[in-house]
Amino acid sequence: MNSPATALDEAAHTGTAKHALIIGGGIAGPTLAMALQRAGIESTIYEAYPTSGGGGAFLTVAVNGLDALRTIGLHGVVTKVGFPTGNIELVSCTGKRLGEVPIGGALPDGTVTQTVKRSDLYRVLYEEALRRGIRIEHGKRLVDAEPTANGGVVARFADGTRAMGDLLIGADGIHSRTRQIIDPSAPQPRHTGLGNIGGFTRTAAVSAKPGGYSMIFGKRAFFGYIGTPSGEVWWFANPPSVRELTRAELAALTSEQWKERLIALFAQDAGPAVEIIRSTAEILAATDQHDMPTVPRWWRGPMIIIGDAAHAASPSSGQGASMAIEDAVVLAKCLRDLPDTERAYAAFERLRRPRVERVVAFGARSSSNKAPGPIARRVRDLVLPIILKRFATASQDWLFGHHIDWDAPVHVDARAA
Ligand SMILES: Cc1cc2nc3c(=O)[nH]c(=O)nc-3n(C[C@H](O)[C@H](O)[C@H](O)COP(=O)(O)OP(=O)(O)OC[C@H]3O[C@@H](n4cnc5c(N)ncnc54)[C@H](O)[C@@H]3O)c2cc1C
Repeated sequence: MNSPATALDEAAHTGTAKHALIIGGGIAGPTLAMALQRAGIESTIYEAYPTSGGGGAFLTVAVNGLDALRTIGLHGVVTKVGFPTGNIELVSCTGKRLGEVPIGGALPDGTVTQTVKRSDLYRVLYEEALRRGIRIEHGKRLVDAEPTANGGVVARFADGTRAMGDLLIGADGIHSRTRQIIDPSAPQPRHTGLGNIGGFTRTAAVSAKPGGYSMIFGKRAFFGYIGTPSGEVWWFANPPSVRELTRAELAALTSEQWKERLIALFAQDAGPAVEIIRSTAEILAATDQHDMPTVPRWWRGPMIIIGDAAHAASPSSGQGASMAIEDAVVLAKCLRDLPDTERAYAAFERLRRPRVERVVAFGARSSSNKAPGPIARRVRDLVLPIILKRFATASQDWLFGHHIDWDAPVHVDARAA
């Protein structure tokens, strides 16, 4: 579908058969392509990078995300590379146990939330998409797109090529170019005041039982770790950062320099953070942490955004990937059931916006607890056990119990329950 512009291309897109251009081959992109395939809609994925990526450490795919994957027969590829993860134990900087929260219950077949390396998650979704016959083009960085006179859309890529389709779906992540194309006044990602960094180690002298996170509200920074069934310890830290660092600034520190800096940050805390960091051979690249405040406009004409491009929750929510997956399945249903693209997009937005914005707000609250000043820290450590007890006993069904019925038709006036 890539070629220099010709009038013939546009004429080719006047039929009723739909072809979707999906921008981004991360989590939402391949999931959407496979869901669209089930809905009888063809698509091609255009990914900016030359290979299937997914750098970074690890993430949890929550039960609601797995349940959404199940609708299109995909949860098995994730459970194959992940491991079951039941709860999070929270500890103060003095080693005092503040409480424990569950990460969702179990699906009817017993499947629970999974922790998975980010690179493995991207890889299995990518490989499964290829196996199902989805076309994926690499080295295609979207730079511009516009609706065509015949109701289609043309996408232009940084390498000078272009592609024509009936729909364009931006699954291009938190720094989405599609979002800006749809609405040049769209907000920018918001820096949460934290950074993300992490690593994997096999040699830490720490007993970390597989399947449960331990998270430490350190004096100066937040630290989390989990044991894996293979005996490794996977960890992350959220060092506070008063201002957003540029990529160059983040990359300027070597792994050893990051180690020194992190060891200094956690030196005063009880718990194994220092030991785990010290035993890690290579610290993974640091990033700034962002979320996405409300994006007023998700779609314009044949173009729409989903996943992080539309509503990124801070990593503290543990839900960004699951929201991206749910979006993909719901959008495919809307496009399957509604008679035209605009009504499908409008229904999608009505169905998804209340839920995803609630999750973004939940993530922002969790992030704000991670780097308070000394007084706020004392208050937090006093009230957190009460809040956690309430959280553990209150129903989290709105979050983890969300279920998408693939077979139930979407009606034109569909709204979130
Ligand atoms: C440190 C960290 C920890 C996290 N932990 C969790 C967790 O535990 N649980 C959880 O659910 N979520 C977590 N998240 C969030 C989760 O990673 C995201 O919500 C999820 O990746 C969103 O998926 P996506 O497909 O929308 O975007 P992405 O996964 O970012 O994929 C976007 C894709 O688009 C491509 N792309 C970008 N621009 C262009 C362009 N112009 N043209 C073509 N392609 C383009 C990118 O290369 C990428 O492949 C975490 C995030 C971070 C940063």
